Amino acid sequence: MKKLIDLHLHLDGSVPYQTVRELLAKEGRSLPEADLRKRLSVSPDCRNLDEYLDKFDFPLSLMQTAENLRLIVRELLAELRGQGLVYAEIRFAPQKHTETLTQAEVVQAVLDGRDDFYAWQKGQEGDDLHANFLLCLMRLVGQDEANWETLRVAKEFKDQGVAGLDLAGPENEEVANCKYASFFQQAREWGIPYTIHAGEAMGPESMRDALALGTKRIGHGIRCQEDPSLVKELAEEGITLECCASSNLNTKVFDQIAEYPLRSMLGQNLRVTLNTDNMTVSATNLPREYQLMEEQGLTKSEEKQLYLNSVRAAFASQEEKDRLLALLEK
Ligand SMILES: [Zn+2]
Repeated sequence: MKKLIDLHLHLDGSVPYQTVRELLAKEGRSLPEADLRKRLSVSPDCRNLDEYLDKFDFPLSLMQTAENLRLIVRELLAELRGQGLVYAEIRFAPQKHTETLTQAEVVQAVLDGRDDFYAWQKGQEGDDLHANFLLCLMRLVGQDEANWETLRVAKEFKDQGVAGLDLAGPENEEVANCKYASFFQQAREWGIPYTIHAGEAMGPESMRDALALGTKRIGHGIRCQEDPSLVKELAEEGITLECCASSNLNTKVFDQIAEYPLRSMLGQNLRVTLNTDNMTVSATNLPREYQLMEEQGLTKSEEKQLYLNSVRAAFASQEEKDRLLALLEK
C-alpha cells in the first residue's frame, strides 16, 4: 500500500457514508441509498463551486453535537488509515457546528475523536496515521465576529492538535481575500500558520491577494496557470499548492482529467501536493486521486516529489516530519 499524506481535506465534506447511516439510525432515521447519494455527493452535472458547496448542508446538520463530531472524526481517521494515509491535516469551520456548542466545544469534540482513534490505533498493525486540524475562517459576509472567535480558539488549542488556520468558502469579489488581512496579521502575531483557498473559482488576482496576506500555502491555486509571471513567483517563493483533482473537475475548473496540469506544474518547479478536498462530496479518496494521476502518466519519482512536498509544507513538528521522511525510506 502507498504511504500517503493529505493536507487538504474538509471534515464536513468527508463524513464516511457508513457513519452517516449510523448517525441517522441513532435518531431512528434512514434514507434510501439513492437519496443519501443525492444529498452527500455531487452529480456529474454539477456546474460550479456554489452548487458544490450546497452538498455540505446535510452532513452539517448531523455535526451539531459533541457526540456526533467525536464519532465522525474517529471513524474518518480509521478509514483514512485503511487507505494508507500516514499524516493528514483535516480542516473544518467550528462556527458551522454551533447550533448547541461553542466553537471551543466543537474543537474539543474533534480532538476527543482523534484521541479515541489514537487509542484504537495502538492495537493495530502497520504504519500509524497522525492527524492535525486546521480551523477555517469563513469567507462570507457578516461572519467577522465568528471568524475572530475562531482565531481565538485556534490560539487556545494551538499545539494540542490545532496546527493552523484556513480561509474557505465561496470565492468572489464580494469576499475577496484581501478583506481578511487583519485576521492573518493577528495569526502571524500569535505564531499560527495558515493556508488560504485561492485560484479555484477566481483566477490569479485572488492568488496574489492570498500571497499579499503572507500565506505560504494556497488551497488549490490551480489557476496560476493563467499567469506565467505568477507561476514564476510561486516557484521562486516556494509556495505550496494544495491541488485536488476530482474537486476541480466537479466545480468545472477543468472539464476532464487529461487537462489537469498537475504534472506540468511539477515540471514548472511548483511545490505541488495532491489531496482530496472532500472525499464524500466528490466521491473520491486519496488512493483514487493518485490512480487518476497515474492514468495520466504520473511517474514514481513525481509521486515521491508530491510526498516530499507534502512533508515540507505540513504544519507539523520537526519530529513528525522526520517520522514521515523515515517512513518513505522504509
Ligand atoms: Zn478546500
